[in-house]
Amino acid sequence: MKAGWHIDAVKTRGSPSHQSSGRLPWALGLMKSNRQRRDEINAHRVKKRDEQRKVAESRRITERIATTAKSQGLKVRELAAVSKRVHVNEANLAPNASWGWPDFVHRGYYVDQPFICVGCNVQQVWTATQQKWWYETAKGDIWTVAKHCRPCRRKERDRKNKARRVHLEGLAKKKERKVVA
Ligand SMILES: [Zn+2]
Repeated sequence: MKAGWHIDAVKTRGSPSHQSSGRLPWALGLMKSNRQRRDEINAHRVKKRDEQRKVAESRRITERIATTAKSQGLKVRELAAVSKRVHVNEANLAPNASWGWPDFVHRGYYVDQPFICVGCNVQQVWTATQQKWWYETAKGDIWTVAKHCRPCRRKERDRKNKARRVHLEGLAKKKERKVVA
């Protein structure tokens, strides 16, 4: 440590920018470099602590999976596949007015669904993650399923928006005519 400080002091004293200032330039330079170094050390410590925390967390998860696998007589690989599933959180679903529940609720997790787009007749996949978003975030009706692929859905939305705009403009014109008459 001491040797490092000394080198810094010598370096700073020699630099022309500090020679022009009259107030102990080398000492100011030394203070600054010490603070910078302290910041660097702190940043390094924080980074190291974060890394250690991440390693510890992933080790905990691995151990938990192994323990559960053992208790259920499953191979670790099988259980890892189970834990990766996109699970259904029933609390997030839109209210269900009908009797019974769709398959994904009974199953407890979403599975990728192949379907044929009604717009372009091309085979598509409605992924488990997309389904979770639709039912649990967008609060889509639990009995609805994907019908359009993404480009067709956008086209369909544009078409509906345009139709609504034309309709509203028509209404406004009608009103105007009535006022004039
Ligand atoms: Zn399509």
